Amino acid sequence: MPKLIFASHNTHKAKEISSILQGLFEVVTLNEIGFTEEIIESGSTLEENAAIKANAVYAATQLNCFADDTGLLVAALDGAPGVHTARYAGPARDAEQNNNKLLLHMKDKENREARFVSIIHLIYEGKSYGFEGVLQGTISADPMGSEGFGYDPIFIPLGFDRTLAQMSLQEKNSLSHRAIAFQKMLEFLKEKLA
Ligand code: IMP
Repeated sequence: MPKLIFASHNTHKAKEISSILQGLFEVVTLNEIGFTEEIIESGSTLEENAAIKANAVYAATQLNCFADDTGLLVAALDGAPGVHTARYAGPARDAEQNNNKLLLHMKDKENREARFVSIIHLIYEGKSYGFEGVLQGTISADPMGSEGFGYDPIFIPLGFDRTLAQMSLQEKNSLSHRAIAFQKMLEFLKEKLA
């Protein structure tokens, strides 16, 4: 099976992505290829950060590889936390602190619209390709549910009355921003292999 290097150390995400890629490619993490160099995500957009990660890995390995970057964009906060989503409440990347900070900033806001955006930067046979997945929704008044991770307890997808943290992993994966973006990458790779 051909290999695809995932520019991340996150084995949990790699497994999730492997299952989306339906056995077409073996997804290999940076740990597995012994890539220990820290990649500084210094971009000012999700696209830039995904490109920085994929380009760093390609420069070191010359292998087919991809990186992803996700942000939560809240309309009433002019798109914040956006590129700062992971570290919104500080470098600890603590989900509960991030959620509390966001709820505090949203306290008096009537417009609760928000969206998750996932960007993938793929380098395949030396060329770059981008894929995007968007999940529209609203920020809840309080945290609800205990599944998932990150901002799941305070994000209600459009058309639902439950947060992502009140959904099973299977249900979340049927509608998530990340699943949409990776599905697009899968369709692209299927065509390349056809
Ligand atoms: P990453 O680029 O996938 O590492 O995502 C950056 C940050 O966005 C994470 O640290 C989480 O705080 C948040 N995030 C990404 N995807 C999700 C999700 O599916 N649910 C909730 N939060 C997420």
